[in-house]
This record gives sequence, C-alpha cells and structure tokens, in this order.
Amino acid sequence: ISIFRKWGCIAMIKLNPYTEEARLLLVQQVQMQMSEARFEHVLGVEQSAIALAKRYGYSVEKASIAALTHDYAKERSADEFRFIIENKGFDLNLLRWGNAIWHGLVGAYFVEHELGITDHDILEAIRLHTTGAPQMSLLSKIIYVADYIEPGRDFPGVEEARRLAVLDLDQAVAFETKQTLQYLIGKNVPIYPKTIETYNQWVAKHS
Ligand code: GDP
Ligand code: FE
Ligand code: FE
Repeated sequence: ISIFRKWGCIAMIKLNPYTEEARLLLVQQVQMQMSEARFEHVLGVEQSAIALAKRYGYSVEKASIAALTHDYAKERSADEFRFIIENKGFDLNLLRWGNAIWHGLVGAYFVEHELGITDHDILEAIRLHTTGAPQMSLLSKIIYVADYIEPGRDFPGVEEARRLAVLDLDQAVAFETKQTLQYLIGKNVPIYPKTIETYNQWVAKHS
C-alpha cells in the first residue's frame, strides 16, 4: 500500500454507475491515503452526508463520493502541496498558508487527477469544505455541515449543530461558521480571508 501511495500509482476508478463495488473501490483508495482514525472520520462524514442528502433531496451517490474524498489529500506533505500550488496555476498567496487551508482547496486537484473525479459539484464541495464560501451549492453545504456533525465529532456545540442540520441546513452552515471563527480566534491563528467572507455572508447582520 505504501508503495502505491509513494509512487502515486493509483488506478482511476469507474464511478458511473456508482455500484456498491465502485464505492468499495473508492473506499479502498481513500483508506490507503490516511490513518485509521481519519478514515473512520471520513466514513462518519459519508454517513452524515447521505442523511443530509436524503433530508434535502440531493443525490445520495454524489454526497457519498464527495464525503469519501473530502479529506483525500489531508496527509500529503507540505512539499507536495507547494509543488502543485507553484506549478498548476494556483494563487501563489496560498503558499503562505498550510495544510488546514490546502487539503481541501488544493486537495481537490489530487482527487481530480489521481481518482479521475471530474464532477464540478463534487470538486467544489471538496474545495470549500474547510472555509465555506459566501455562495455554496447544496452539495457544498451538505459536506461542510456533515464534516462538522459526523458521529465521531465531540466538541461543545456539536449537538446544537446536529439539531440545526436536520431543521434548516442554512442555519447549520451559519452556526458552524460562527463557531469555527470563534474557535480560531480563541487560538490566535490567522483567519483565511474566505473564512471571513463566509462569516460576513452567513452570520453578520448588515446595518
Ligand atoms: P478536518 O479536515 O475534518 O479536520 O476539518 P476541516 O477541513 O473543516 O478543518 C481543518 C482545520 O482547519 C481545522 O483545524 C480548522 O479549525 C482549521 N481552519 C478552518 N478555517 C480556518 C482558517 O480560516 N484559518 C486557519 N488557520 N485554520 C482554519
Ligand atoms: Fe478537512
Ligand atoms: Fe473532514
């Protein structure tokens, strides 16, 4: 498994039709990219994303694929991310950030080019899953919220987030955005501008 990962010899999987077998192949590709604990998180996000897809009338298949791949690149090295940012047309200001911001925004590049997933909604959901955005598709909201409320999460506010997610997805996005920003400010870490844009759109009251 480590040889495959190191050499990037990863087979493109045929996900259309998204059969049980196709899903299992994708699960394997994802599993070999990460620790046991992170893989468990990913399966939890899939479970929550499928529940939200059913609740809000979205494709269960696309929710599953996006959830399974949202943290695909999270354990890639900083050097690997820097290489892609510098050589594949990304905004070079990204170089001043780190894994937290890269693994979704740049991680979608690995998902597209290693797994052969080209669906624009799925790639957008991966790109936006950490910071959110002022405008989000239904799938992007589902993945953003599912990542926060999956069964393995345990932090103050998660119960309220789960309650809101079933009640009103937009309210759940707003709640998560506010909680995350408060948490980051509490840690004195730099706030990525898109995170602030998300806050301004979803939380701030304009006067
Ligand atoms: P995970 O990949 O499942 O752990 O969850 P996320 O992708 O949502 O978040 C990854 C990390 O990025 C978490 O530790 C967040 O707190 C952090 N994060 C989210 N937004 C920002 C931001 O604007 N700035 C910084 N520095 N970190 C952020
Ligand atoms: Fe993530
Ligand atoms: Fe995640």
